[in-house]
Amino acid sequence: MIVVLKPHTPTGGIDRVIREIERLGYKPHPVCGDIQTIVAAIGDETTHGSLETLTAWPEVESVMRVQKRYKLVTREGDRPDTTITVRGQKIGAGQPLCLMAGPCSVESETQLMTTAEAVKKAGATILRGGAFKPRTSPYEFQGLGEKGLKLLSKARDEFGLSIITELLSEADTDLVAEHADILQIGARNSQNFQLLIRAAKTGKPVLLKRGLSMRIEEWLLAAEYLLASGNPNVFLCERGIRTFETYTRNTLDLSAVAIAKKETHLPVIVDPSQGCGRADLVIEMCKGAIAMGADGLLVEVHPNPSQAWSDGQQQLDVSLFNELVRVISPFTQAAGRPQTT
Ligand code: PEP
Ligand code: MN
Repeated sequence: MIVVLKPHTPTGGIDRVIREIERLGYKPHPVCGDIQTIVAAIGDETTHGSLETLTAWPEVESVMRVQKRYKLVTREGDRPDTTITVRGQKIGAGQPLCLMAGPCSVESETQLMTTAEAVKKAGATILRGGAFKPRTSPYEFQGLGEKGLKLLSKARDEFGLSIITELLSEADTDLVAEHADILQIGARNSQNFQLLIRAAKTGKPVLLKRGLSMRIEEWLLAAEYLLASGNPNVFLCERGIRTFETYTRNTLDLSAVAIAKKETHLPVIVDPSQGCGRADLVIEMCKGAIAMGADGLLVEVHPNPSQAWSDGQQQLDVSLFNELVRVISPFTQAAGRPQTT
């Protein structure tokens, strides 16, 4: 860590800070300028006490971290890209782009089966659908709960698709894990650390959405909770963050995709549906996501978006989803991730 002292700190004050750095187990290397002194404190920050308390000292202007706060999700140490296998399908690490698609919410057997059949035919391998829905208003459709999970399991049996669905609360963990192949942790829960630990311990792969106002470091630290709880099978999912813009529901942060790919070895999935909240932009967002190195897409598809019980404005109908698959093909080719189906 680097400790920056205030301008013109007297020698006695500098010595006091240096002694405290030593007391905390670091080796201090002071660099004294005419006006200001900085102290490089050498020691493994992950095994020593934090020097950040020094910011409360009257002599200290700032304390800067040198090492990353996350140890397991980092690429440092030349860790190879993580590949996650979901019911035999390998995702990440240069594998073909993975298509996850399905309705925002599971609404009925007919709605789910119609969608499952269509997205499978188009080339998706994973069916999405919320059975427990995080809704802003308590008066909006909250999801079918267990009935929705059973329908998802039925769709897996019938169409051979893997299932991703949201785990909303710790209390439902065992039930959701019984039906899901991937547990989705939603944007509103991505810093619910107890839920993350519980989800990780099921042993199922976990897809971690980025929270609405989460910095990239916070997102990666939330992923660190999952890995630190013994689960290496974590997907990061960029789904847009809240900004001042009103033309889109959220601002899909494609730079976060590139950064997550550079910083971590985890597969990165892009959700353009929550990301921009507009069906007419989803295809364009997918092209960008593939160019940024995304390992998969999570797209909302509904047989009749105008009748959807949630997020109708952003769901693609079946013909638009077919068009998406066709239009992204040269992009997956160019990125070296062509789909095999
Ligand atoms: C969803 O996928 O339907 C959803 C609610 O996502 P998010 O948590 O990103 O808002
Ligand atoms: Mn949705």
